[in-house]
Amino acid sequence: MAEAQKPPAAAGGRANTKKALPDHFKDYKHVWVFIEQERGEVHPVSWELLGAGRALATKLGVDLAAVVLGSPGEGVRRAAAEASCYGADLVYLVESDLLANYRNEPYTRAMTDLVNTYKPEILLLGATTLGRDLAGAVATTLLTGLTADCTALDVDTDGSLAATRPTFGGSLLCTIYTLNYRPQMATVRPRVMPMPERIERPLTRLIEHPLNMVEDDVVTKVLSFLPDRQSEKSSLAYADVVVAGGLGLGSQENFQLVRQLASVLGAEFGCSRPVVQKGWMAADRQIGQTGKTIRPRLYIAAGISGAVQHRVGVEGADLIVAINTDKNAPIFDFAHVGIVTDAVRLLPALTEAFRQRLSASTRDRIAS
Ligand SMILES: Cc1cc2nc3c(=O)[nH]c(=O)nc-3n(C[C@H](O)[C@H](O)[C@H](O)COP(=O)(O)OP(=O)(O)OC[C@H]3O[C@@H](n4cnc5c(N)ncnc54)[C@H](O)[C@@H]3O)c2cc1C
Repeated sequence: MAEAQKPPAAAGGRANTKKALPDHFKDYKHVWVFIEQERGEVHPVSWELLGAGRALATKLGVDLAAVVLGSPGEGVRRAAAEASCYGADLVYLVESDLLANYRNEPYTRAMTDLVNTYKPEILLLGATTLGRDLAGAVATTLLTGLTADCTALDVDTDGSLAATRPTFGGSLLCTIYTLNYRPQMATVRPRVMPMPERIERPLTRLIEHPLNMVEDDVVTKVLSFLPDRQSEKSSLAYADVVVAGGLGLGSQENFQLVRQLASVLGAEFGCSRPVVQKGWMAADRQIGQTGKTIRPRLYIAAGISGAVQHRVGVEGADLIVAINTDKNAPIFDFAHVGIVTDAVRLLPALTEAFRQRLSASTRDRIAS
């Protein structure tokens, strides 16, 4: 559904186009976060969103609620209890056999029923494959606005959600407001928001809600799962050490050098977008605005120029080491350590040096 957009004011917040919010908006309160879990395993983006949701809820002076949907059993109960440890004040839970495996129709029904009953002001979901599918369906069913792939979330003085995301190929950021509809919905990609601290806390408020649907209402049937389904959530986004290569490496063969260094460091490997477009690496290895966002302790970028679309995916790294032949490459504007040299020559030397110096236990320490 199309968003109402306002030009952002120079110093954040909206330009002078304000009007009073409709009266019925007062019925909508609280910040909700969808807890994405499959077969009892929660996607960590859910906890990251609880961290972001907590900041919004505190500013608004409202509750932060988690929404857990799934088949009856220990898995969803554990997810609900964990949500409390990551900051949720209360949890809405819909348990049904129809929610055993993700299917759009029952999940959309469960979520829209909850929203229509309890009326949240803000609803956040992870921009994962599942979250994107669900968010779009929920927004169109509720006839409300959805801002996808946000990089920052804030609330305006009137309580409106200010959802910021890249636009024009990532060269600009725009702040989008959902002025005329509620709830205000946004998705955020994994690793864009920092992981909040987990604090042991009992879950004291659990609101259970029925799913008013039967299997015959659901067109989609799950027949089987491919065994490598989990690999999509590969560790790249959550890796502590990442080595990546760009077009500067010159050929597909040279990406062996990236993999070898990654292997010695016990790291994940990745690449820039043109490398995927050339077919030198698989798409799930792409880092950046249209690939994965990473937050490793160490990021080594070899032959990558540091275009803004790449930068947004890596700037959460604690230490960025860039290797580039061009001393004026943009990556040196945000790298912590810059090495001006030929990466094709340096990478094997680095690999050998690390191989000699790093014992297995040291590698484990880097990763921990
Ligand atoms: C809508 C949109 C979305 C995008 N999303 C992404 C995204 O998610 N991720 C992404 O990465 N890009 C993305 N891009 C593309 C982005 O704009 C850049 O084109 C891309 O990041 C450049 O890739 P690169 O740095 O590998 O290649 P180049 O820009 O060609 O840079 C190669 C670099 O290697 C250096 N070099 C050359 N030879 C050597 C050598 N022997 N040793 C060391 N250095 C060397 C060069 O000096 C240069 O700086 C997107 C673009 C658009 C429009």
